[in-house]
Amino acid sequence: MRLSRFYLPLLRETPSEAQIVSHQLMLRAGLIRQEGAGIYAWLPLGFRVLKKIEQIVREEQNRAGAVEMLMPTIQQAELWRESGRYEAYGKEMLRITDRHDREMLFGPTNEEMITEIVRTGVRSYKDLPKLLYHIQWKFRDEIRPRFGVMRGREFLMKDTYSFDIDKAAARKSYNKMFVAYLRTFARMGLQSAPMRAESGPIGGDMSHEFIVLAETGESGVFCDRRLVDMPVPGSDIDFEGDLQPIVDQRTSLYAATDEKHDAAEFEEQVAEGDRIAARGIEVGHIFNFGTKYSEPMNAVVAGPDGKNIPLEMGSYGVGVSRLVGAVIEAHHDEGGCRWPLSVAPFHVGLINLKPGDADADAACQSFYQAFGKAGVETLYDDTNARPGEKFARMDLIGLPFQVIVGPRGLKNGVVEIKNRATGDKSEASLGDAAEVIVAQVTKGLQHSL
Ligand code: ATP
Ligand code: MG
Repeated sequence: MRLSRFYLPLLRETPSEAQIVSHQLMLRAGLIRQEGAGIYAWLPLGFRVLKKIEQIVREEQNRAGAVEMLMPTIQQAELWRESGRYEAYGKEMLRITDRHDREMLFGPTNEEMITEIVRTGVRSYKDLPKLLYHIQWKFRDEIRPRFGVMRGREFLMKDTYSFDIDKAAARKSYNKMFVAYLRTFARMGLQSAPMRAESGPIGGDMSHEFIVLAETGESGVFCDRRLVDMPVPGSDIDFEGDLQPIVDQRTSLYAATDEKHDAAEFEEQVAEGDRIAARGIEVGHIFNFGTKYSEPMNAVVAGPDGKNIPLEMGSYGVGVSRLVGAVIEAHHDEGGCRWPLSVAPFHVGLINLKPGDADADAACQSFYQAFGKAGVETLYDDTNARPGEKFARMDLIGLPFQVIVGPRGLKNGVVEIKNRATGDKSEASLGDAAEVIVAQVTKGLQHSL
């Protein structure tokens, strides 16, 4: 993509309404634009990151055996009356009336709708288990939308729903999502930890929030350092095998958000040197709620003895749009964003220091073509801005690699390569540079699978 054709509206000043660094950088680097309280337009650069994050979430859901579908954003009030949540949900629900005076709503979540869909298509215990998900915009009229996409009113969520015959089977579905989440966040360059969460009226131990440690997080968190350092299961993990040991290994270590924190237990279970008391961002929540919706909504299957049994259910959310902010919180410096390769809007920023110079133009054109051919996504700065402005802009948008091409270097047959994450700069010969970059990008992407 040529920068001259792209749409990258940058802000010079840090907007005063943005309190945390991810919100500031998303506005300054032209990722989003606010269109209303807690409502954002995704500008081209931000949209590319959002799509990459969404795709990683999708790949890990598919790997775990979940099946993708798409439910509408607008729902009928009727459905929510069946579960009793239409009144209970309160002011966070955006209620709408259509021209026939029918009560509708913009979905804040989809338990009711998926239960309605599955109850008509699943008849026997033999049809189970089912694990279905979609990635869809939600609306919640949050009392205090803030921190940009971290707590928006309109936001993109991945929500999965599980349907099982009994508790033991429901636990297997739960474990699949638990392990899928470990991989999902790690692939985006995030260190996440599952933490015990409020499980609601049903009780039980099957409710975990996945938290990314960050100073600006909204939740207070207390956990064992060993949990954060634990390696993530590889891509060869067998989701049909026994995942309980992986889950147990983690849930046996202390980890709780402030709501569930018990100071005495924390001190007793965690050695002083391993105690982390910090803040975190909730990027996912997995939750088993038994028959809370299946009973009132009459979602049953015939069991082995022919008698009807209400479905055991769980729901599993990931804050896809919130993750864009979370990744920036974890990867930035004074100069701007520092995207991990796996979610970067482009892999390489190609800077032409002197457009119009025949040698510089020719060298850039050949890099641009070589990268394109190798599948390396490139933003080519072919504009007439001054070099200083080009450098600052490229640092701000934070693409993992920069290739800097100017007449002076070309006289000696070299270009400069900069690694945005480490700040390392090196020279490469005109002949080798493309190969060096392609190899590094390919290796980096492979590593994050
Ligand atoms: P919170 O306690 O932060 O309000 P929640 O318990 O309401 O979250 P869930 O209903 O479990 O969240 O939603 C699943 C995921 O969706 C959350 O883990 C979070 O990552 C994301 N999410 C929830 N609310 C918002 C929001 N207002 N803006 C952006 N992402 C959100
Ligand atoms: Mg909420």
